[in-house]
Amino acid sequence: MTTKPSSYLPIVLRTDQRDALLVGGGQVAVQKMRLLKGRCRMIHIWAETLHPELAALVEQGQAAFRQGRVEEDALQAVLPDMALVFAATDDEAVNEMVARQAHALRVPVCVVDAPALSSFITPALVDRSPVQVAITTGGASPVLARRVRQMVEAMLPARMGEAARFMRKQRGWLKDRLPGMKQRQRVWESFVDGPAYEAALAGEEDRAREQLEQLVAVAEGEADRPQGEVWLVGAGPGNPDWLTLAALRLMQNADSVLYDNLVAPDVLDRVRRDAERVYVGKKRSHHTLPQSDIEAEMLRRARRGERVLRLKGGDPFVFGRGGEEMETLLAANVPVRVVPGITAANGCAAAAGIPLTHRDCAQSCVVVTGHARADGTLNLHWPSLARRGQTVVIYMGLSSMAELCRQMQDHGLPESWPVAVVHRGSCADQRCVTGTLGTIAEDVRRQRLQSPVLIIVGEVVHHRGEVVQAVPGYSTSKESA
Ligand code: SAH
Repeated sequence: MTTKPSSYLPIVLRTDQRDALLVGGGQVAVQKMRLLKGRCRMIHIWAETLHPELAALVEQGQAAFRQGRVEEDALQAVLPDMALVFAATDDEAVNEMVARQAHALRVPVCVVDAPALSSFITPALVDRSPVQVAITTGGASPVLARRVRQMVEAMLPARMGEAARFMRKQRGWLKDRLPGMKQRQRVWESFVDGPAYEAALAGEEDRAREQLEQLVAVAEGEADRPQGEVWLVGAGPGNPDWLTLAALRLMQNADSVLYDNLVAPDVLDRVRRDAERVYVGKKRSHHTLPQSDIEAEMLRRARRGERVLRLKGGDPFVFGRGGEEMETLLAANVPVRVVPGITAANGCAAAAGIPLTHRDCAQSCVVVTGHARADGTLNLHWPSLARRGQTVVIYMGLSSMAELCRQMQDHGLPESWPVAVVHRGSCADQRCVTGTLGTIAEDVRRQRLQSPVLIIVGEVVHHRGEVVQAVPGYSTSKESA
């Protein structure tokens, strides 16, 4: 199969030393102006009236305004000085005349919405200047171009331009240090794969530079590997579409990943294939790896120079022991980067269609752990939990559910007070059971709900809506008592 080449050649035109002409002063002209703004020396706008956004630009001295109808002779005189021309009036005859003149003088011209009259068209743009991605379907489908643009937008870090500027600044210096082109290329490749790039993206220039120097030392054979890092990343409640863009990027760049039970397989699938996977959750004996062993493992790997991804269900700083891990690592001088995730409270509430606060019945929302002490009791301040006008969200509360419901009633809430229990919220096998403080423990037992579950207590449960899930295939089951 052969692909017919497009009729359009994508090139990148240098315009900062040249002027551009914009014929027309309305909404369409504004769109073209946004493209030209900052990229041309001067924008000449020729129009009868001026949109306020264009007027503002003229006021700032970035554009020059020539008022009136476009005349052929005058146009002929200015065209040769222009890098390009946009005809963006609502008068077809004027647009055609501008195109004809521009063609005659070989000045690139774009007539808005008339590709047949144009010598160039403008692409959909993803702008992380100086990095720019231009997308064109050759006019076949602007909708498709926009869709591609959305996809690319999601792939490029928001501050990629910052990293690109940093890299440009270092090029000269690196060339002096490493004369071999291949060697330099390898250094840049390691750079964009690792912590140095993350630092550059975050605008941490000194840190990025320090790490670049380490990479150079490695390339020169003076060091083994640059220092490793640990990335404490929230994996959200299970639906992979709910990962943050930063989480995805780090998942693609890690050398090893330490994860536990709560991280859904669908999410783990997004981790780079050749990253080493280290399971640190419950063993078959049902004993969780001691926290100190997990921390020691992370330390050992970071010291070997690995980019260690500590992937945690939900958010790393919400009942995830992320705080302890961070403290241990920082005390050992291992750099730590933290990326938040959607915590179970937010994720399960959204997935089950239960608002956590609602004007009518909940002005606050409290998040607590239902993890029992060694003697089976719960260390919670019941008077402040058993309150009207408040939602209480309980993590790790499955085994202490009966005690929890009893305490809430003992401290003043009625037996009929609503409760929802969400199992594996946002995952394909999500289940939600609703009941009351009086019934829920038995409901959950009968429905055989297992860990992980999130318990939501409060009148907001009455506002539960049968929401359509963000992703097809991820649906709320209708089972509710
Ligand atoms: N750091 C996590 C919480 C870890 S504690 C977060 O921010 O979400 C583990 C508890 O989280 C589980 O016992 C359960 O109560 C809750 N949990 C986490 N993900 C869940 C999910 N998808 N559905 C229901 N509960 C969840």
